[in-house]
Amino acid sequence: MSQDFIGKNFIGGAWVPASNGGTFERRNPADNEDVVGHFPASTPEDAKRAVEGVDQGRHDWAATDPEKRMTVLEKAADLILERVDDLARELTREEGKPLGSATMEWKRTAANFRLYAGEALRSLGETFPVAGNSLVCSIREPVGVVLAITPWNFPVSIPSRKIGPALATGNGVVFKPSEVTPLSGQRMVEILLEAGVPEGAIALVQGGGAELGTALVTAPAVKAVTFTGSFATGSAIHQAAGPSKRLQLEMGGKNPCIVLEDADTERAAQIIAQGAFNLTGQACTATSRAFVMDSIYDEVLEKVVNKARAIKVGNGLDKNTKMGPLATQAQFDKVREMIEVGKAEGLRMAYGADDLETPLPQNGFYVAPTVFADVPNSSRLAQEEIFGPVVCLHRVNNYEDAIRQANTVEYGLAASLVTRDMGRALSFAHDIEAGVIKINSATGGVALTAPFGGIKHSSNQTYKEQAGHGVMDFYTTTKTVYLAN
Ligand code: NAD
Repeated sequence: MSQDFIGKNFIGGAWVPASNGGTFERRNPADNEDVVGHFPASTPEDAKRAVEGVDQGRHDWAATDPEKRMTVLEKAADLILERVDDLARELTREEGKPLGSATMEWKRTAANFRLYAGEALRSLGETFPVAGNSLVCSIREPVGVVLAITPWNFPVSIPSRKIGPALATGNGVVFKPSEVTPLSGQRMVEILLEAGVPEGAIALVQGGGAELGTALVTAPAVKAVTFTGSFATGSAIHQAAGPSKRLQLEMGGKNPCIVLEDADTERAAQIIAQGAFNLTGQACTATSRAFVMDSIYDEVLEKVVNKARAIKVGNGLDKNTKMGPLATQAQFDKVREMIEVGKAEGLRMAYGADDLETPLPQNGFYVAPTVFADVPNSSRLAQEEIFGPVVCLHRVNNYEDAIRQANTVEYGLAASLVTRDMGRALSFAHDIEAGVIKINSATGGVALTAPFGGIKHSSNQTYKEQAGHGVMDFYTTTKTVYLAN
C-alpha cells in the first residue's frame, strides 16, 4: 500500500495546515482500503486569511507585463505535459476515471493554460466617437480577488478554465477545489507557483461544506465568484453573495438525445451509450434521456444494450477498464437509490447489474451501466439529475413530441440530435432548450475554442465559459475614461 500523502492549504504565501489542525481523509473510490491522503479541513478563519492574503498580495501580479503573464501560463502548460503520466495516475486514484480519461483531462488543462496565455495579450479597451478635441475610451482592469469553487468530476480542467483566465487578466485567485479531489487541486496550485505565479497572487483552501463555502463567498474582498457544481449549491452561493459580487454559476444537467427515423441505428446507439456511460455518467453533459422514434426504437434499444454489455467496469488504473467506479459513497448511494426508484416505479430494466457476466468488484463504488426502456416522461428518473451511468429510453412518435418532452425538465445544459436531415438539425438548434447543441455527436465533450454554458437551472447565464465572445469579460472591470484637453 502506498504511503499517505499529507496535503496543505496555500495561504498567505505559505503551505500550511488548517488553523485548527483539522483534517479530512480521501480514499480511492476504486479501492476503499487505499488512502489517497489527508487534507486540511479548513475553517472560516482559514477562508478569511486566504482572501485577505490574496487581496494584499495580488497587486504585483496585476501590474505585471501581460507578456510575462503569458509566459507563466505557458510554463504551467509545459510543466503539466512533462509530468502528465504521474498526474494522471494520481487523478485516477483520487477520482476513479480511467487512466486514458485522466490523461486527456490533464492535457486539456495544459491546453487551457495555453489558450488563456494568449488571452493575456488580448484584454482590449475601446475608443468611442465623440465631438470635438477629446477622447472617450474604455480601459479594462482585473476585478481583484476571484474565488473559484469547483466540483470533483473534472477536478483540473474545470478549475483551469476559471483560474487560467483570472490569472491571464491579472487577478488574484482563491481556489477551493472539491473536497473529493483535494490532491488534484493541490497539484494545480503547485504547478502554477512553480511556473512563476507570485505567492501573493494565489491561495488554495481545502475542505467542503456550507460554512466554509459561505465564509469564502461573503468575504468582502472577493469581487467575483466563478462556480461549477450542483444547482442546490449554486443557489446557496447566489443567495449568500448579495448584489455587489459578480457571479458565474454553471450547474447541473438532464441532457436529452433525440433520434429521428432516418438515423443510422448503430451510430445513434453509439452516441447514446457514449453520452450515458463515459466517465461513469458523471459529466454535467452526460446523456440521461434518449427519445427514439417508434419505427427504430427496438433496434436502437437492442444496440444500446449491446454497448452497455461490452463495457468493462473496473479500476481505472487497469488498462482494460472502460468505466471506473462512482467517485464517492454519496454518489454510490444516490445512483443505486435512483435505480431502485426505477424498479419501484415498475420501469423495464433492459440492462443492469443482474445482466453482468462478471460480478462487479466489491471493494469500490462500482455500478453497472444501466438502461431503462419505455420510460414515461413523468418518471423521477426522467426528471431528476442522476449523475451516474443510467440512461432512460423513451418511445416517441414524432419530432414535436420528442422536443416537447425533452424540454419539460428544469435543466438546459446539453442536447443532441441524430439525423441526416439538416433542416431538422437547424430547427432543433432553435427548438431545444439547451446551451450546448450537438448534431450527430454525444452530448458530452466541449471544444477548447467554443463558448460553454447552460440555460434554465443549468446556469445563471451571466458569462459563458471556456472561449469565445465575452468569456474574458467576467474577469475584468471596464472603466470609461473621458479625456479633454
Ligand atoms: P456540489 O455543488 O456538491 O459542490 C461543488 C463545490 O461547491 C465543491 O467544491 C463544494 O465543496 C462546494 N460547496 C458546497 N457547498 C457550498 C456552499 N454552501 N457554498 C459554497 N461552496 C459550496 O457539486 P459536486 O457534487 O462537486 O458536482 C456535481 C454537480 O456539478 C452536478 O450537479 C453536475 O451537473 C455539476 N457540474 C456542472 C458542470 C457545468 O459546467 N455545468 C460541470 C461539472 C459538474
